[in-house]
Amino acid sequence: MAQLIDGKQLSAQVLREVAAEVELLSAEHDVVPTLAVVLVGEDPASQVYVRNKVKRAEEVGMRSIAHRLDAECTQDALNELIGVLNDDSQVHGILVQLPLPSHLNEDDVIAAIDPAKDVDGFHPLNVGALASGRASLVPCTPQGCMIMLRQVHPDLSGKNAVVVGRSNIVGKPMAALLLQENCTVTIAHSRTKNIESVSRNADIVVAAAGRAKLINADWIGPGATVIDVGINAISVDGKRKLMGDVDFESVAPIAGAITPVPGGVGPMTIACLLLNTTRAAKRQLA
Ligand code: NDP
Repeated sequence: MAQLIDGKQLSAQVLREVAAEVELLSAEHDVVPTLAVVLVGEDPASQVYVRNKVKRAEEVGMRSIAHRLDAECTQDALNELIGVLNDDSQVHGILVQLPLPSHLNEDDVIAAIDPAKDVDGFHPLNVGALASGRASLVPCTPQGCMIMLRQVHPDLSGKNAVVVGRSNIVGKPMAALLLQENCTVTIAHSRTKNIESVSRNADIVVAAAGRAKLINADWIGPGATVIDVGINAISVDGKRKLMGDVDFESVAPIAGAITPVPGGVGPMTIACLLLNTTRAAKRQLA
């Protein structure tokens, strides 16, 4: 059976390190790292994510402010709020919970965030920095995946890695981080031919397709490390269940190491958000 990479345990370790940094910033510079989270509308999943982020931030001693705007809010009103947060020296990190209601332009909102406070790492300047190997604020989910991978592979150099999915928030930054660690990277997506055999040849498979149980035993070579980013809410016997993109039962006996869902990448994402907020606060000291 594959080694389980426990995201709960690992994220707790990251959060302890963040808490120590927060204490140091407060003691030495009288600065409490502060995260502003902006939520537009009433999407239930987004509300849960925002509540969790605020709660975790407070647990590590940060200040966290949630700004809730109604679903009909205009682009101007949202951009104006971002402007106020950009100018507020007490705010070190700004996160706009996505997705936004369809009448709002996500790209415009992301571009309005001060790149130094862009703790999601989605601003075009931060995206460009990552692509050119000079990363500053790196997207949280791929960053969490890298911490998990290093548990199994302290040196990733030369590994064949396949990332399934090419979104801007997971697939592409994930591939950039793996490349930076000298992996040979393939990005697979919905148009990839012979995707199972492409994936089967990999030492590392990162699944970020958003398709429940897409990746089964046919996709995984013996001993491969499998990171499951997918979070799919599926109804089983009338009950809502969270499932990854990986069919854990069929893959775990073949893989060398695997992350569970839930309790894998999810908790790492929040931990990395708080890591980014602390980093942003430290940089803003200068
Ligand atoms: P997107 O829907 O933006 O992207 C999905 C990607 O997967 C696309 O590039 C798509 O290809 C590809 N894809 C879809 N179906 C297939 C298929 N059958 N075979 C191969 N590739 C396929 O999703 P996100 O990147 O935003 O999220 C991916 C998953 O990760 C979701 O389940 C999401 O909930 C989860 N997630 C989890 C987080 C966490 O903290 N654990 C954080 C963020 C996301 P194409 O481009 O060709 O359409």
